[in-house]
Amino acid sequence: MSDYLKSTPNREGFFGNYGGAMLPPPLEPHFAEIRAAYDKLSKSADFLHELRYIRKHFQGRPTPISYLKNLSELAGGAQIYAKREDLNHTGAHKLNHCMAEGLLAKFMGKTKLIAETGAGQHGVALATAAAYFGLECEIHMGEVDMAKEAPNVTRMKLLGATVVPVGEGAKTLKEAVDSAFGSYIGQADHALFGIGSVVGPHPFPMMVRDFQKVVGMESREQFLEMTGELPDIVAACVGGGSNAMGLFSGFINDEDVALYGVEPMGTSSKLGDHAATLTYGVDGAIHGFATKVLLDENGEPAPVNTLASGLDYPGVGPEHAHLQSTGRVTYTSADDKESLKAFYELSRREGIIPALESAHALAFAMREAKNHVGKSILINLSGRGDKDIDFVTETYGFGE
Ligand SMILES: *Cc1c(COP(=O)(O)O)cnc(C)c1O
Repeated sequence: MSDYLKSTPNREGFFGNYGGAMLPPPLEPHFAEIRAAYDKLSKSADFLHELRYIRKHFQGRPTPISYLKNLSELAGGAQIYAKREDLNHTGAHKLNHCMAEGLLAKFMGKTKLIAETGAGQHGVALATAAAYFGLECEIHMGEVDMAKEAPNVTRMKLLGATVVPVGEGAKTLKEAVDSAFGSYIGQADHALFGIGSVVGPHPFPMMVRDFQKVVGMESREQFLEMTGELPDIVAACVGGGSNAMGLFSGFINDEDVALYGVEPMGTSSKLGDHAATLTYGVDGAIHGFATKVLLDENGEPAPVNTLASGLDYPGVGPEHAHLQSTGRVTYTSADDKESLKAFYELSRREGIIPALESAHALAFAMREAKNHVGKSILINLSGRGDKDIDFVTETYGFGE
């Protein structure tokens, strides 16, 4: 098989039929500047050297792989392993691309990072990068989310970011995206938009994949060293799809490794009850790129629902829509209930409290283990669950 990562996307940013860049005219020159800068920097020894230094000495990479012995015994069948992105600085994989976006801004001579945030995880990671590089940081957040996720608002402010409350519409993520983009259009000469996943117009899906690739590259080497073999199955949860693309990148050329993306099935398969875009979506466009989307009866992005707010998006990264269409990756789902069970089990039996997002990948592994006796499953533990403990225990108690 030829090198998949080198051959995708094409010059226009398409992964098969998905991706591209549908931009408002005022942003076109700024995206051309970002593309040109990244073309150059992705081959620059100075850029790559500084990024490697940051990974090791600031983020604490490489993160380990843990063998989940007790959970494997409980599930029965396959041996389950976890890539520990919960141990990455700030507690999730998001810092991998935020630090690289900050470095890109610095090399481009920009002085500011702008973005939206939903639950605040992306805002905190980007504010961390801004503090490190001495950049200004402006994070747009819906007022409903600000009330729900107050500790993350405090974190962003401590890190020196300006948090812009968004009071339009439902006052959540979609309005925050619109607000952040509006603000960015007026400041694009000195600011960089820090997109939070493998989504958005080209070149962001490609760049964020490149920045997250470190997860997969480390994992392949570590797993071989631990077991002498490659994993049989590799799985990750899919919101926008960045932690999944990061892990998959390490194994995508290994045809014998089965790749699974796990979407949130929320409370049921009825539209509005889940955020399983690849499972139930149709071809369409959202936020400037072509992909699968969940649409309502009026053709507008549908309301979505899941316990894990980091997975709450009616679109998905274009590369995942492509990998679904080629069959290289299988997309499946886990619902709120089984993800919550996995959250409690990992905490109780392994001493690791996972993010609710990551618990979806774990739920898949525990369900599938019995169908793969003697095989191995590697999941991405994309983040730690500290942010979720109050919500989970206040709503559901402490598990059985
Ligand atoms: C944001 C987030 C996700 C979902 O984002 P992807 O781009 O799909 O990876 C998953 N896990 C954690 C811990 C997150 O914070």
